[in-house]
Amino acid sequence: ETADRLAKVMARAGLCSRRDAEGWIAAGRVTVNGKKVITPAFNVTSRDKITVDGKPLAERQGTRVWLYHKPAGLVVTEKDPEGRPTIFEELEEKGLPRVVTVGRLDINTEGLLLLTNDGGLKRVLELPSTGWLRRYRVRAYGYVTQSQLDALKDGITVDGINYGPIEATLERQQGHNSWIVVGLREGKNREVKNVLGALGLEVNRLIRVSYGPFQLGELGEGEIEVVKAKMLKDQL
Ligand code: URA
Repeated sequence: ETADRLAKVMARAGLCSRRDAEGWIAAGRVTVNGKKVITPAFNVTSRDKITVDGKPLAERQGTRVWLYHKPAGLVVTEKDPEGRPTIFEELEEKGLPRVVTVGRLDINTEGLLLLTNDGGLKRVLELPSTGWLRRYRVRAYGYVTQSQLDALKDGITVDGINYGPIEATLERQQGHNSWIVVGLREGKNREVKNVLGALGLEVNRLIRVSYGPFQLGELGEGEIEVVKAKMLKDQL
């Protein structure tokens, strides 16, 4: 039985951030085995009974979803065999409870990544049958015409993998690069890069701006925002 700091256990339960937990503990809102505890560093095990405002911790854990603006350069994996920095190290540092990601983004991909404390919800949101539109802004080396991009509407096969249908709109040319907005409804491995690669374009910047009803919006790089309970109820 391993012991952990009370604030960490509360955060991991999906109740609040670790910083919030420290505040709640200091404010006297938390008990362990019926006794008020005011030190966040107090150690507890899974056998200890924790309450917040008189309610057992277990009853207070609801499903939560967060929007995360993933920066480039972090891998979406728990433990990278090559030792590269992971988003999970970053998220823990920011005091987020234990979460799983809805799908993945490549190391150099930026933008919206959904996080949740509910493994069942993760699986539902990843189902191809959900068919939610994932929208990306893409910068790619090379020239392309709108009519070449229009050909993706009927889907495309690259290296034996069937993709599509894909909506793609040419935004503008910038030097030798093209900026393209790509929308797809499946999340196949390296889909955007492979599909644009088939048109002779090399992706050098990839930013996910939406996932179904969830938008990156003005969320700054590295920032996390919890999805409001009402929004979750309306959308899920
Ligand atoms: N398509 C890609 O090629 N990479 C991503 O990270 C996401 C979509």
